[in-house]
Amino acid sequence: MAAFPFTDLSRLDHQDSLPQSCDTVVIGGGIAGVMTAYYLAKQGQHVVLCEKGRIAGEQSSRNWGWIRQQGRHPAELSMMVEANRLWHQLAGDVGEDIGFKTTGVLYMAADQAELDTYERWLPFAREAGVDSRVLSARELADQLPGARGNWLGGLHTPSDAKAEPWLAVPALARLAKRSGVIIREHCAARSLDASGGKVSGVYTEAGRIGCDQVVLAGGAWSSLFARAQGIALPQLSVLASAMATDSMPVAFAGGAADPSLAFRARADGGYTIAHGFSHDFYLGPDAFRYFGAFREQVKSGLKTTRFRLAAPSGFPDAWGTSRRWQSGEVTPFERLRVLNPQPNMRTLNAALDHFARVWPEFGRPTIRQAWAGMIDTLPDEIPVIDRAAELPGLVIATGLSGHGFGIGPAIGRVVADLVTERSVGHDLTPFSLKRFKSGRVLKPGLAF
Ligand SMILES: Cc1cc2nc3c(=O)[nH]c(=O)nc-3n(C[C@H](O)[C@H](O)[C@H](O)COP(=O)(O)OP(=O)(O)OC[C@H]3O[C@@H](n4cnc5c(N)ncnc54)[C@H](O)[C@@H]3O)c2cc1C
Repeated sequence: MAAFPFTDLSRLDHQDSLPQSCDTVVIGGGIAGVMTAYYLAKQGQHVVLCEKGRIAGEQSSRNWGWIRQQGRHPAELSMMVEANRLWHQLAGDVGEDIGFKTTGVLYMAADQAELDTYERWLPFAREAGVDSRVLSARELADQLPGARGNWLGGLHTPSDAKAEPWLAVPALARLAKRSGVIIREHCAARSLDASGGKVSGVYTEAGRIGCDQVVLAGGAWSSLFARAQGIALPQLSVLASAMATDSMPVAFAGGAADPSLAFRARADGGYTIAHGFSHDFYLGPDAFRYFGAFREQVKSGLKTTRFRLAAPSGFPDAWGTSRRWQSGEVTPFERLRVLNPQPNMRTLNAALDHFARVWPEFGRPTIRQAWAGMIDTLPDEIPVIDRAAELPGLVIATGLSGHGFGIGPAIGRVVADLVTERSVGHDLTPFSLKRFKSGRVLKPGLAF
């Protein structure tokens, strides 16, 4: 099974002709956009999906492939439970092997404070019907035979799952296409057309498409796009590195992590490994603009974040990236088709050293491929799923904050229902855009 991303970033799989008009244009061919387009088409909508680069070229192929209810922010939990159910269904519907398996997720606690956090989270899991359990050190050892970690215990969710991102999201796009979605790669949305104070179309690099509804699911580019339409979205991105190893014995069949090591058994026999939650962060204009909103994250991430002075040219928050343009001009979205940052090999090697210490009998894993992705995040690390009050007809679905692959199918289902004004079945108040103005922002992660 070929599970490797990034072999050819310029190849195009989708070049459908664009209609003059449709019901909804979806901007962004990551998991959020693909799933939204799919569920809209299932409702009988005429949908166009515009992707500036390649379907799943950015975060949606570069992630660890964890489909995780465990440790979710309580605000997201019911949606994530739905996503878990949808993955089972979609894995059958795509008609190809996407590496989907229910293999569980495991956290290993390095200290008592972490174990206490797991305990505090458990009631939310119980209420949502998730089968998570706090494990003693002995129970954890049973899950990880042969491991020599100094862990005090763990958190385990057997019903959590995994899939191969690079296989899954392109396969879901093909499913969306079979359901009627028009998909076009190398098709940047440049700006929105508005008449009578509401959306009337999208200017793309391949021409204008008339429509009443637009979904912005542009991942790390969403803030740049929104700002050019006069909408403030406090979104920043961090660089996260990961690697695939050559084939190895199975230490744990699902995803497992402690603060300095995260790994998941891959369908091709290796692991996807990363250094827990360590990131690189580029200082750009938005970093200063939104510093206040991200104070909590900056404080809690000081130890795990490496600050860098400037992003490579063309990145969404690079100093030289233009912030304003006309619909006839080439935009930053076309200048950089695929965000493909260099991985931080220092942190990756540290993760391999840690792996080798914990499983000495496996030897040090050899790297088959290393990569990085820019994770877009919001101040409370949960998404925006909302209509933009400033511009009727625009729905924003972004800020999936490092855990959007797993929840992606439910995001798509919910956003589709938001667009067509059906009942979405979840409380979307925590995901409102106006929370950043009102100051009613939740605490990030498990810090409640
Ligand atoms: C290393 C790493 C590990 C991760 N691990 C996990 C994990 O194990 N589990 C999990 O649940 N999540 C994980 N994530 C997070 C997850 O990958 C993301 O949350 C999710 O993929 C975001 O999906 P998206 O559709 O919002 O954005 P993206 O996948 O980034 O897609 C956005 C797309 O929009 C396109 N676009 C932007 N602007 C325009 C425009 N103007 N016109 C046209 N197209 C445009 C971009 O080209 C891009 O393809 C990880 C992320 C990384 C980087």
